Amino acid sequence: MRPPLLDPLFAPVTSLEGVGPKIAEMLERVVPADIAGREVRIADLLFALPYSIIDRRDRPGIAGSAEGQIVTLEVRVDRHQPPPRGKRNVPYRVFAHDDTGEIALTFFHAKGPWLEKQMPVGEHIVVSGRMEWFNGRPSMVHPDHIALADSPDGLPEIEPVYPLTAGLSGKVMRRAIQQSLARLPELPEWLDANIVRQRTFPTFAAALRLIHNPDGPLDVSPESVAWRRLAYDEFLAGQLSLALVRARTRRLSGRPLAGDGAIVKKVRAALPYSLTRSQEQATQEIFADLARPDRMVRLLQGDVGSGKTVVGLLAMARAVEAGGQAALMAPTEILARQHFATIAPVADKAGMSLAILTGREKGRERAAILEGLRSGTIDIVVGTHALFQEGVEFKDLVLSIVDEQHRFGVHQRLAMTAKGNAPDMLVMTATPIPRTLVLTAFGDMDVSRLTEKPAGRQPIQTVTLPLERIGELVERMAAALADGQKIYWICPLVEESEEIKLMSAEDRYAALQPALGDRVGLVHGRMSGRDKDEAMRAFKSGETRVLVGTTVIEVGVDVPDATIMVIEHAERFGLAQLHQLRGRVGRGDKASTCVLLYKAPLGEVAKARLAILRETEDGFRIAEEDLKLRGEGELMGTKQSGAPGFLVARIEHHVDMLETARDDARLILARDPELQSERGEALRLLLYLFGRDDAVRLLRAG
Ligand code: ADP
Ligand code: MG
Repeated sequence: MRPPLLDPLFAPVTSLEGVGPKIAEMLERVVPADIAGREVRIADLLFALPYSIIDRRDRPGIAGSAEGQIVTLEVRVDRHQPPPRGKRNVPYRVFAHDDTGEIALTFFHAKGPWLEKQMPVGEHIVVSGRMEWFNGRPSMVHPDHIALADSPDGLPEIEPVYPLTAGLSGKVMRRAIQQSLARLPELPEWLDANIVRQRTFPTFAAALRLIHNPDGPLDVSPESVAWRRLAYDEFLAGQLSLALVRARTRRLSGRPLAGDGAIVKKVRAALPYSLTRSQEQATQEIFADLARPDRMVRLLQGDVGSGKTVVGLLAMARAVEAGGQAALMAPTEILARQHFATIAPVADKAGMSLAILTGREKGRERAAILEGLRSGTIDIVVGTHALFQEGVEFKDLVLSIVDEQHRFGVHQRLAMTAKGNAPDMLVMTATPIPRTLVLTAFGDMDVSRLTEKPAGRQPIQTVTLPLERIGELVERMAAALADGQKIYWICPLVEESEEIKLMSAEDRYAALQPALGDRVGLVHGRMSGRDKDEAMRAFKSGETRVLVGTTVIEVGVDVPDATIMVIEHAERFGLAQLHQLRGRVGRGDKASTCVLLYKAPLGEVAKARLAILRETEDGFRIAEEDLKLRGEGELMGTKQSGAPGFLVARIEHHVDMLETARDDARLILARDPELQSERGEALRLLLYLFGRDDAVRLLRAG
């Protein structure tokens, strides 16, 4: 149950004066939280922090005000000049003066009586707004503020500026925020006293008040102590909740997995290569985890082509050796089938029984697989998320592996946790997430990294080419085909609404056939699963030698003898995605090429992206550069996976506090695992405030 102390902050914004359902709808668009169906609350609004200020302290007088300057003027009202009858387009003007000159305050579609009340003739008033000079005459169109000079409230000297949306004015936003601040209770301190002192943090409530009532531009900067305090709070809430999930999942387990090494040995013997040093090390780390009674929650991170699959396979072999079952979940049908195809011959030689389960296995076939999983005759199952749906039961699932993690959200991960007797978990990701982001997205997971590529790989030569020269490129591709090479050709997704004329994959496929012959294949997202598989199979086997497709071939697809990757409209793809796509080639021992076809002229960011790709193949370096160019959201693929974003923390400004927050979270839970102390109670408030209710529910006394 949420502590009643927080009730005022969890009240809907419609409880504020002047906020009805219509305004609430607009507020939903400007608050940082993902509202998704619930009401917008006061707390959501308080986290909508201003990004700049308007300083109204400047009072240069009418004559001294420059064009475009925001000024405050104290003037005497001389006369009103309403528009002539029936001329709605002529503005209503109010003339006023100070010692330096005269000004016209200008209003379009104004209500005369209201203006007369605001600015009675003969009165001294203060107005504030943007100065405009036209033909040597000063005016102010729709002043932001008008007040009687002797009114007690006057007008604000410094005003915060908020993100707004059509129909929502700054005035309405500020009023709603000020009312919300008034409802903000003083909350018990949840931060460690030392941290507060060392960093000179204000309290949570004081921090919000400071930022929403800035005294200058520094107060609305993410670097201000007030903002840093809130960011730290958010990091701490995130790290605490991840640590709670993890502690909980660990508690559920308690079974050491060890074996005699027989199956692992057979798997190794069946591989046509020997492991790289980092594959070897990751395998040992995983085996050690499995042997412990604690539950494994490990991330296996390795750049594209670094060979994660075989590490996963060895882990599964270990699980089977220990008498249990293992599951490998892939994000797409294509990938699940590919894994199945690579694992099948090895599993066969090692004496493990293997099955595949996706949305496509139906009827009898599916029933037989489900039966095999239940009775334990199937040792390893590879599949899509279908693996974790209702009705799938395992006899003894001891290891779950998720491949290409960035495609899955936190929810799937938790769903997996619920299956079986809390299996050990290995998450494999090809997204070269910078270390800092691993922490925010996965919290305190153990991490194994594959830092090198298998021996004998040749560097990929990356070139850029404007689209106008596509003719030349096609000729070169025809020559490469004659030379026995295999080519991927990626086209961007074409949206229905697209205004610019782009070639869809289908169009490109049709256009390439005359030049490259009938050995061109096509794969895209709207094809049926079977057709996609067939296209992939044909390309892998060499029946087709050019594969035109959309980004469905982005993740994980492995055709080692493909050596050319053409990416059409490369300027439309993100850096991380381009790196993933390029990683489809350069997997064998032959030299590979990546051609980035772009539409000129390139924007600054696009230019920088393509330059980085030409410069390096190092996924981690690319990820860091990507972070600089775009911010963390897109890098994490937030849009696809719903990975947690931040409400107030800004990675680029606050990342230095992340590790402290993690250590802090660890320490807190070591001392007070169920958050029952006085500080623990306060920390529960923090978790609620940052939307980590799920974590609170994991607590015994939650
Ligand atoms: P990713 O890490 O991108 O998932 P994969 O597991 O698909 O990479 O491996 C990429 C390719 O490298 C595959 O063709 C695989 O057979 C091969 N491979 C993996 N490990 C080695 C190794 N140690 N030596 C040579 N080739 C390897
Ligand atoms: Mg892979």
